[in-house]
Amino acid sequence: MQSIQANNYPIHFNENGYEALNIHLKENNYSKLFIIVDSNTNDFCLPKFLPYLETELSIEIIEFDAGEINKNIDTCVEIWKVLTELGADRKSIILNLGGGVVTDLGGFVASTFKRGVTFIHIPTTLLSMVDASVGGKNGVDLGNLKNQIGVINVPEMVLIDTQFLETVPQNEMRSGLAEMLKHGLIYDKKYWEQFLELKAIDFADFDELIYRSVEIKNEIVLQDPTEKNIRKSLNFGHTLGHAIESYFLENSNKTTLLHGEAIAVGMILESYLALHKNLISITEYSQIKTTLKAIYDDIVFEVSDIDPILELLIHDKKNEYGTIQFALIHGIGSIKINQSVENEVILDAFNDYKL
Ligand code: NAD
Repeated sequence: MQSIQANNYPIHFNENGYEALNIHLKENNYSKLFIIVDSNTNDFCLPKFLPYLETELSIEIIEFDAGEINKNIDTCVEIWKVLTELGADRKSIILNLGGGVVTDLGGFVASTFKRGVTFIHIPTTLLSMVDASVGGKNGVDLGNLKNQIGVINVPEMVLIDTQFLETVPQNEMRSGLAEMLKHGLIYDKKYWEQFLELKAIDFADFDELIYRSVEIKNEIVLQDPTEKNIRKSLNFGHTLGHAIESYFLENSNKTTLLHGEAIAVGMILESYLALHKNLISITEYSQIKTTLKAIYDDIVFEVSDIDPILELLIHDKKNEYGTIQFALIHGIGSIKINQSVENEVILDAFNDYKL
């Protein structure tokens, strides 16, 4: 698969990626190489990755416990300390080998250590391949507030090897799929329709669909790297989705939702908002709702859940001047940004979701 050019960095696929990585390491005078992994990618991905790596550099592995709960500043402090103890300097390079938690956190650690060292993302989940590793957003959560602290800073390159997906659990694959479906809904109707035509979701042969998803995300980011306009379209489903994800994370009587599971509900709810504003037809709304509900389990909301979820919307990073802003689809395959919606309509959206 051909490499994709992002803003100032390439995204390489499969074998080409290892070749590009090894050439890059040879041609640049790095002092040390660090690989950041979590406890799962240490077990499942590092043994696959290391045999491809050709370098004379000394290699240090830095591992932290897997899970969103560890995507916080305490983990960063631990890693900054380890880097210091292991003699990392400004000529060091960091490879982030893992899902979105590792690439988000590792990118932030690298961007801030000694005011910034070079880093490369090697995403190992579907979600991190098609979304988290592309676009330069790095960061950590602050308590239950997602991605509250972070920087926009691009990696030296991204290396996507779809072989890593062999060990990713099915629910995590479905989580990543939500972002691919979003890419179709906001940008490319034909791409969305490819998913409708699939008889069953079979991830074994997903390389082409992954490639197109990366292309879409990259095309959007290239047009608007700092999220002034069209990049906001990527937030479709995320305004309500993030609030729901945060609410379920902080409530011990709720099962924690995977990122994509929350985004899938967010996309159904926000499609309802688009329907209310006459931005999509009832046929389009029904197609989106039916398709997403067939893939993702229903989430049960109690009446008492809704107010705290609406409260959380206030903290959304996408808000400007205190008003909650949505990016809503405007027909399948295009988007209208900066849309405000009354709370009553959001309540209607939750009621309709249950039906
Ligand atoms: P994750 O990194 O937690 O990975 C999910 C689980 O899969 C973890 O337990 C992980 O250890 C495990 N895992 C990873 N690779 C594996 C493999 N190859 N085999 C077996 N297990 C493996 O979560 P994620 O879904 O990859 O990413 C979610 C994160 O990404 C969230 O924190 C979200 O905020 C962030 N994100 C960032 C952006 C961005 O633009 N920066 C975009 C979307 C999402």
